[in-house]
Amino acid sequence: MVSPTGEVLISARWIVPVIPSDTVFENHALVISESVIKDLLPVDTARNQYPNATEIELPQHLLTAGFINSHGHAAMSLLRGYADDRELMDWLGNHIWPVEAKLVNHDFVKDGTTLAIAEMISTGTTCAADTYFFPNAVATAFIENKFRGQVAMPVIQFANAWAESEEQHIQKGLEFRDSIKDSELVSTAFAPHSPYTVTDKAFEQVQLHADELDIPIHLHLHETRDEVENAVAQTGKRPMQRMHDLGLISSTLQTIHMTQLVEKEFDLLASNGVHVAHCPESNMKLASGFCPVDELLRNGINVALGTDSAASNNNLDMLEETRSAALLSKVLTSDATSISAFEALAMATINGARLLGLGEKIGSLEKGKLADVIAVDLSAINFQPIHNPVSQLIYTATGHQVSHTWINGELLYDDYQFTLLDEGRLKAIVGEWHKKIEAIS
Ligand SMILES: [Zn+2]
Repeated sequence: MVSPTGEVLISARWIVPVIPSDTVFENHALVISESVIKDLLPVDTARNQYPNATEIELPQHLLTAGFINSHGHAAMSLLRGYADDRELMDWLGNHIWPVEAKLVNHDFVKDGTTLAIAEMISTGTTCAADTYFFPNAVATAFIENKFRGQVAMPVIQFANAWAESEEQHIQKGLEFRDSIKDSELVSTAFAPHSPYTVTDKAFEQVQLHADELDIPIHLHLHETRDEVENAVAQTGKRPMQRMHDLGLISSTLQTIHMTQLVEKEFDLLASNGVHVAHCPESNMKLASGFCPVDELLRNGINVALGTDSAASNNNLDMLEETRSAALLSKVLTSDATSISAFEALAMATINGARLLGLGEKIGSLEKGKLADVIAVDLSAINFQPIHNPVSQLIYTATGHQVSHTWINGELLYDDYQFTLLDEGRLKAIVGEWHKKIEAIS
């Protein structure tokens, strides 16, 4: 058993620190002291230098930074597989929104978020950006399970169980933010849902509050061609131009999806330091289009990865998402060199940290950073032989080979077992929600 207060020495066959890039250390050890990474050095030196540390030996494992899921709606895990293989507006309008209208409340969000957290911890995700109704319930689930993340205050013009108007969303969001602002694990952002569901007035207010509080804005933008064409027909402007006119295009803007981009928009994103969260599997499943990741990266734009919700994915496995991102980019560019395994890993880790404004704290295994760490077991036959462990990680592994997960220095998943979360109890709670969802279908 590992004491969270003592020094822990994790010796591993391979350590991939993410920074410096293109680096694999063999037979090294990572030393964690409380919540912080204290050292990374050859294993023999580490044992001499830290004789009192508790050692965890992982002789067939790859140790790297925990994955950062840059976009999701955790509570919607309760709707995983509920209404698949439908067009986006049929899926939303006839299935997802009606269920949400009947069932979404504080408990739905807290229980659904806990389900998502269990999946994320067990597949190597240590931090997630979330946007959904009842952000207080999302934050409670994060904190109870010692999970790190950015919990957004949602803003949308339609009445729902959380708030009735844009003004009320903003007001309740600010109250929530005030209650959580000292949390070590949870940061906040405003999440105006999208250009087609939020008014100019609300965008202006959100920007004002975000500037004052120095917090980011998280926004679905240019998700589909229809979104862009409808906006041009109604306002004469592409949505990104409207956001620019409203003053939203800045280095604290986190844009989600971005499947529709023209030349001058790359310049606008690059010159303002805007971040992009790419959600390849959700985009594919909903036939939304393709984010031009290769071109974004070549323009110096930070691109991170997100799963979106389990209802449009249907899992929260960041290793699968990362492989999809790498493969999709090769197909789109007809270039097999587009997005290497190392670049894909950076997108799933340090780029996500930068998107969240946490690039100095998490996203890589560097001295002084917070200890968000995962181990992946590469001993199974399908990984052999291991010419390149990072290739095996990105192109062979799935989240099911993640054996250990530490967040903030605390071991939350130990040799495929949760240390804090009660999986049996969680399954029983999810079973109750399953019955309620079936009953109204
Ligand atoms: Zn989304």
